[in-house]
Amino acid sequence: MKRTPIRKIHTLVLGSGAAGLAAAVRLRREGCEDIAILTEDLRFGTSVNAGSDKQTYYKLGLYGGQNDSPRALAETYLSGGSADPEVALTESALSVRAFFHLVNLGVPFPHDRFGQYIGYKTDHDPLRRATSCGPYTSREMCRALIREVKRLGIPILEQRSAVKLAAAGQAGEKRICGLVAVNTLENAWECYCCENLIFAVGGPGGLYDASVYPSSQFGAIGLALEIGAAACSLPESQFGLASVTDMTGRDMKADEICDRPASFRWNVSGTYMQVLPRFISTGPEGSGGEREFLRSYFPELGQMNSLVFLKGYQWPFDARKLPGGSSLIDMAVFYETAILGRRVFLDFRTDPADFSFGALSAEAREYLEKSEALLETPLARLEKMNPGAVELYRDHGIDLATEPLEIALCAQHNNGGLKGTVWYESENVAHLFPVGEVNGSHGVTRPGGSALNAGQVGAFRAAQKIAQCYSGWTVDDAEAEKALRGALESLNAYLGRTVSNPDYAWEKERKRFQVRMTRSAAHLRQKEEVRKALEETSSECRRIRTRMKDPSREESPGLLPAAAAEILRNRHLLLAQEAYLSALNAAFEAGSRGSALVLDTVGTPIHRLFPDSWRVKPEDPRFRGSILMTCYDENLAAFTSRWRKLPPLPETDEWFENVWRAYRERDFY
Ligand SMILES: Cc1cc2nc3c(=O)[nH]c(=O)nc-3n(C[C@H](O)[C@H](O)[C@H](O)COP(=O)(O)OP(=O)(O)OC[C@H]3O[C@@H](n4cnc5c(N)ncnc54)[C@H](O)[C@@H]3O)c2cc1C
Repeated sequence: MKRTPIRKIHTLVLGSGAAGLAAAVRLRREGCEDIAILTEDLRFGTSVNAGSDKQTYYKLGLYGGQNDSPRALAETYLSGGSADPEVALTESALSVRAFFHLVNLGVPFPHDRFGQYIGYKTDHDPLRRATSCGPYTSREMCRALIREVKRLGIPILEQRSAVKLAAAGQAGEKRICGLVAVNTLENAWECYCCENLIFAVGGPGGLYDASVYPSSQFGAIGLALEIGAAACSLPESQFGLASVTDMTGRDMKADEICDRPASFRWNVSGTYMQVLPRFISTGPEGSGGEREFLRSYFPELGQMNSLVFLKGYQWPFDARKLPGGSSLIDMAVFYETAILGRRVFLDFRTDPADFSFGALSAEAREYLEKSEALLETPLARLEKMNPGAVELYRDHGIDLATEPLEIALCAQHNNGGLKGTVWYESENVAHLFPVGEVNGSHGVTRPGGSALNAGQVGAFRAAQKIAQCYSGWTVDDAEAEKALRGALESLNAYLGRTVSNPDYAWEKERKRFQVRMTRSAAHLRQKEEVRKALEETSSECRRIRTRMKDPSREESPGLLPAAAAEILRNRHLLLAQEAYLSALNAAFEAGSRGSALVLDTVGTPIHRLFPDSWRVKPEDPRFRGSILMTCYDENLAAFTSRWRKLPPLPETDEWFENVWRAYRERDFY
């Protein structure tokens, strides 16, 4: 029987978001010739599809007389706790180089007539370090990087979905040696053997039902977790209000680079809130029983509208802003949708009932006054303050003048991910380099914009380490072939056993586990709920592992079952879900922090309209000095998590000649 050929590529870049593209460019610049990008599609992923009213890029301050330094920036990164100080210093130090790399590639970051790159303050930012090129900063980055990838002649293998990684060696000394992918055009297996794998698969967009990740972004962290790669800070995700309109049958403007999403997802931050839209909810069909549900949470209308205004620049759900703060708005939306099963919309056409500018907080009123936006409807105010925000929805077939905008409290970003070294190599699987959102370099909080910086810095570091230390071939061909053939056999067995079940439907399976995550493991965390969800997921994962064992089928190089890539995507998403839930289950003792609200029977009640059991367990600040590590234990066939104490931020008061010598002798890799 014809066997699936194994193609050798020295360094594979998996994923073509801003991080993967930058890694490919940097590898080539460092002199690595035998490289390729393997990806689902250049139009897929978060970077090329997501944005916000002013999508932020974060870096060292470079404007005017403001004092800044790598150390000061690293301190900001570390301020929320549970982030690796050495990695934070690296992301700070390289932020300038990574930023100017983008500038030099033509990304239009604004500067003044002296050439100074102006900045503004973003969330968790004490200085004005943030910059932006508008709503689509990360798309501009991708455009510039794709131009460069093409100019450099780097091969791009699209319509490939990686479905299993191949590793050689025992736990403790594992290394990556290749991967199995499904060619989704031909619906056939492909096998790749590689010396290095830059793992740039993005954040876990496929885990949650309520999600503002673009609908083409699922992530693939489960593939690395499956081979035992260590992860950190998995419970530290960001959640916030976003639009989730179904796009079926809508007419959108054509764009040569972004995907055609099934639903339009966009953060409703900034001006979308500052213009004070009407929050309404309806029955599950989207009509009937319409009510302004937010009103009942507040004794006074002015207080409600002032908090809605604040939500504009306090976008992510923040456990510290409860009770009584702007996070109550997120909670009320969540209660209405996830618990009561209703649908929530922002209506920009009319003011909330009994609206009056006079009842607003001084801050909100002055802001609207200075913006010359004391106008009659939220839409008129939005047109005045940010016409692009109205235009953006129009471009996506949604007219805010004629219809309300459906929203939900959505998963937006994972601060955690795989644990890398300062060279962005996996801590415990050699030659595997997680870069971009899949690398968990952020802690409990992160300044807005630091995700994009982290991806660029990771790309630089991984390329440098590969060029300096891993440029030869050290993979044992026979060992790699054994691992790849073994992976293929187990996937074949899994597929065969799964599709032979007449009741199996991958769409239903995916919806079920995504809903489970949104209900039990989003911003609201209840021990009993998480434990139950973990038990259910673990039992499904045990079934997966059993189906992959004892392959009874011969390897079939022919056509795969229809939707093989989707069925196998569910497989690794479920494995990832098990890891996330197991980490969440271990994180309760740290209490409420970041975007996670931990409930406790003896905590502070949030609001009389919520169940009495919704009481806030306060943060235990002692855990800020530790990081939660999660790893698959082959002996237990389960994920385990433990807190690891973090070292202090490195003191780097070195002597020039000594650093120069170390640099010449390359003794720090
Ligand atoms: C609405 C929204 C607003 C945001 N705003 C900001 C902001 O203002 N500032 C900021 O810093 N960050 C922001 N972020 C986060 C930031 O955009 C992402 O963290 C970043 O773009 C991720 O880049 P990446 O290259 O790691 O992954 P992505 O851009 O998601 O790319 C992942 C790539 O991997 C591919 N891939 C995945 N799995 C597989 C597989 N199995 N096989 C083959 N290919 C695969 C995908 O197709 C894609 O090409 C925002 C995110 C969202 C959702």
